[in-house]
Amino acid sequence: MTVLVINSGSSSIKYQLVDPSSGESIAVGLVERIGESTSHLEHEYDGETYELHERIADHGEGLRLVIDMFNEHGPNLEEAGVQAVGHRVVQGGKYFDKAVIIDDDVQARIEELAPLAPLHNPANLKGIEVARELFDVPNVAVFDTAFFQALPRESATYALDREVAEKYQIRRYGAHGTSHMFVSQKVSELEGRDDLKQIVMHLGNGASVSAVKEGKAVDTSMGLTPLEGLMMGTRTGDIDPAAVFHLARVGGMSIDEIDTLFNKKSGLKGLAGDNDMRAVNQLAADGDDNALEALEVYVHRLLHYIGAYSAVMGGLDVLTFTAGVGENDNLTRAAVIKRLEPFGIKLDEEKNAQRSKEPRVISTEDSTVKVMIVPTNEELSIAQQAVALL
Ligand code: ADP
Repeated sequence: MTVLVINSGSSSIKYQLVDPSSGESIAVGLVERIGESTSHLEHEYDGETYELHERIADHGEGLRLVIDMFNEHGPNLEEAGVQAVGHRVVQGGKYFDKAVIIDDDVQARIEELAPLAPLHNPANLKGIEVARELFDVPNVAVFDTAFFQALPRESATYALDREVAEKYQIRRYGAHGTSHMFVSQKVSELEGRDDLKQIVMHLGNGASVSAVKEGKAVDTSMGLTPLEGLMMGTRTGDIDPAAVFHLARVGGMSIDEIDTLFNKKSGLKGLAGDNDMRAVNQLAADGDDNALEALEVYVHRLLHYIGAYSAVMGGLDVLTFTAGVGENDNLTRAAVIKRLEPFGIKLDEEKNAQRSKEPRVISTEDSTVKVMIVPTNEELSIAQQAVALL
């Protein structure tokens, strides 16, 4: 039994054939630059990579070519027993607090929510439309916001004029919910406890922190959009909104220019000139002061949220790192945990330096809080949620 997981973007389709019970990723692939003359399809199965370089007009053609790849190079989708197609959907707004089987009504709601995620929901819908046409199994939508849909009102609400906020549906929706849920559940499972106070730090190119108490999300750093919160690869994270007024009035910048500046040219890239943490670490090791400052800001932001969420939850049992930086960068982990020593949180340097793909504890036996690394797996989570619904 398997699930085909699809992450459809504006000009790309990422897919993975997953066995939800073993967690095995059977085949993975990607269609890129859809609609351009340089479109490209890459399909990996059984240790081999198969590529196609030709113009792929639209998502429909892209997904048909993906099915051709499965037919030609394997695995055979019928023999693989595909039970469902699971779609990653970015914005579920006020409607969805869990995964749902997609029907016309669900599709209409995802479309209705497009103004809240103008780059993502329409792209997610393209994948859904084509998959509903091409596959004879249930299609399931798994929302990035669902884990945070039931945030307590004090953390979901912005102190904005009530009427304006309601009219434009401005609240904290959060993002990366599938990852925060997967990781916090894995921690509970490993600890054999469902009463934990947890902080999960998803540090990838996009980065977010969540506070999870007794299995429920009670706070998260991303807000109306994924721009709020931590400093990220190319995003500012928290910034005084008056910087927007200032750049418009004094800098003469348009709203679109400021949007691009905040989302694409800021964060590590804006401060250190590169959005890849490995490159920034290297620059810092070579004594580049901009890179050193970028890392200081990165860690400072994390400390802010760890302090805030410990207070919000009235304590902390487990602090977990995940995603590209969180799973791989022992330097960032050490820089954060060292600063928490006054609270009795202690890093085991040797465990922190070890590389592994397995979930593990990196704090010392006598640390007041357990520090863990839990590799995230959003595709597996989507596949498991899809199967649970069937
Ligand atoms: P996303 O899914 O948000 O694109 P990932 O979770 O894959 O991102 O994380 C990507 C980031 O992880 C890269 O930009 C890079 O900065 C960081 N990363 C990956 N490996 C390492 C490493 N060994 N050391 C430091 N950072 C790393």
